[in-house]
Amino acid sequence: MSTTAAVAIAPMLIGGRWVETATDTWEDVYNPSTGQVIARTPHAGKEAVDEAVEAAAKALPEWADTPVVERARVMFRFRALMEEHFEELATLVTREHGKTLAEARAELNRGVEMVEFAAGMPAMLMGQTLPDIASGVDAECVKHPVGVCVGITPYNFPNMVPLWMFPVAIACGNTFVLKPSEKTPLSAVRLGELLTEAGLPDGVFNIVHGARACVEALLTHAKVAAISFVGSTPVAKIVYETGTKHGKRVQAAGGAKNHLVIMPDADIDQTVKQLAASAYGCAGQRCMAGSVAVAVGGAGDPLVEGLVDFGKAMKVGPSDPAVSSAAETIGMGPLIRDDHRKRVASYLDIALQDGATVALDGRQSASGDGFVLGPSVVDHVAPTMRVVKEEIFGPVLSVARVETLEEALAQGDGCEFGNGAVIFTQSGHAAREFKRRFNAGMIGVNVGVPAPMAWFPFTGWNRSFFGDLHIQGTEGIQFYTRQKVTLTRWPKPSESHHDPVWRSGR
Ligand code: NAD
Repeated sequence: MSTTAAVAIAPMLIGGRWVETATDTWEDVYNPSTGQVIARTPHAGKEAVDEAVEAAAKALPEWADTPVVERARVMFRFRALMEEHFEELATLVTREHGKTLAEARAELNRGVEMVEFAAGMPAMLMGQTLPDIASGVDAECVKHPVGVCVGITPYNFPNMVPLWMFPVAIACGNTFVLKPSEKTPLSAVRLGELLTEAGLPDGVFNIVHGARACVEALLTHAKVAAISFVGSTPVAKIVYETGTKHGKRVQAAGGAKNHLVIMPDADIDQTVKQLAASAYGCAGQRCMAGSVAVAVGGAGDPLVEGLVDFGKAMKVGPSDPAVSSAAETIGMGPLIRDDHRKRVASYLDIALQDGATVALDGRQSASGDGFVLGPSVVDHVAPTMRVVKEEIFGPVLSVARVETLEEALAQGDGCEFGNGAVIFTQSGHAAREFKRRFNAGMIGVNVGVPAPMAWFPFTGWNRSFFGDLHIQGTEGIQFYTRQKVTLTRWPKPSESHHDPVWRSGR
């Protein structure tokens, strides 16, 4: 990475070369622990996108023809390099995002698992055959790469979300252009360096930086075949509509509002710990974060009491070990930006105006130069309130109180999103009803963050996902491949059916 006035410039990777783009528009990258600018992201436009897509298109034929076993070996080497640089990668995530080191390591582990999944591609790309589907005719169905694939990613998992996409796409024989979040571009750059070191040929993996103009150029580029997007719902919808209108296959994961239902028979102490980890982990900046706790029967009072005690005891502060010697002991780090912190905090006033109460106000822990905001608990919320309907994406947990499981299930039916939902209970029957009927795609039973790992699809429902094939698991492989069916007949050689070219006796 080059530097201007001591601030690093995030470079782009095009055709195997690290380049700086000529632009007048830049985005500051902050260290959320200090509030200081640590890097700048260029906003590339159509020209840089053209170069990156052309480089990917040029590299495609040779990479698609490279045996899958060799493609997988690049993933093995890449995985080994990620392990070798594990702490450095985790520290970089913490530095540009603000999550704690423990959370950054967890993110990285999920990313490494995606590379392990992709390294198993030879077994997973096997096709199907059926001999004698008709008399003397054999049928086979094999998977081909789709072409140049694009990944557009959010700020909240600078390492893991890009890794949801490119290892699988590349191992399937595609080439790739990544457009990471302009707020957290540094992890993507480091992953690009490690991929190059792993021996990936030039042009197979490319990086462009930017925001709206850059994304629009990618969505409409004639040589792009497939687009994977992860981000907020309004942008996911635009990406899906624009991409499909231009003939691309698109998978677009959006925002969320996840409900956690606490039955009266749940173990309150354990549930409080799990709820707090779900709602306040990564400072609430997770698409699987618990956002609305729905307390059934008498569970409400002990739950709120436990959450308030837990939140008051939480250590909140800078998470970057270069900034604070206490970083490793921090329970919650800062938010991504100051404007986001203000937006999240504003929901506490909105909740009060709508008639809820604030049992714990995280603004009291907001100190220092970084973007720190403490955990908040909003009590007595109703489904019509903005704190319940809108994605806050910060450490604010709302508590609703209902009398029955039926009422708790109805809260899910009224929600426009559909990522995760969790039930805490000791009743198998309640868990079974919840699992079967709650209106969301990823369910936890006594598991606070039911995020599927690499081998299973990330199955958001409703306005949490636009498309047909989800990210991760075998759906991810289906997304990055197209199938070809061949029917073959080899007629038995006979006097009358000699090949005309080789027939003798002219
Ligand atoms: P975002 O939608 O602002 O940005 C995501 C990407 O889209 C970035 O690369 C950004 O540059 C680009 N972008 C932003 N505005 C655009 C526009 N108008 N046109 C074209 N491109 C645009 O999201 P974010 O704030 O970076 O990330 C947080 C969001 O991501 C939350 O809503 C969260 O729930 C969601 N998320 C979802 C999942 C999931 O699996 N469903 C996972 C992680 C994050």
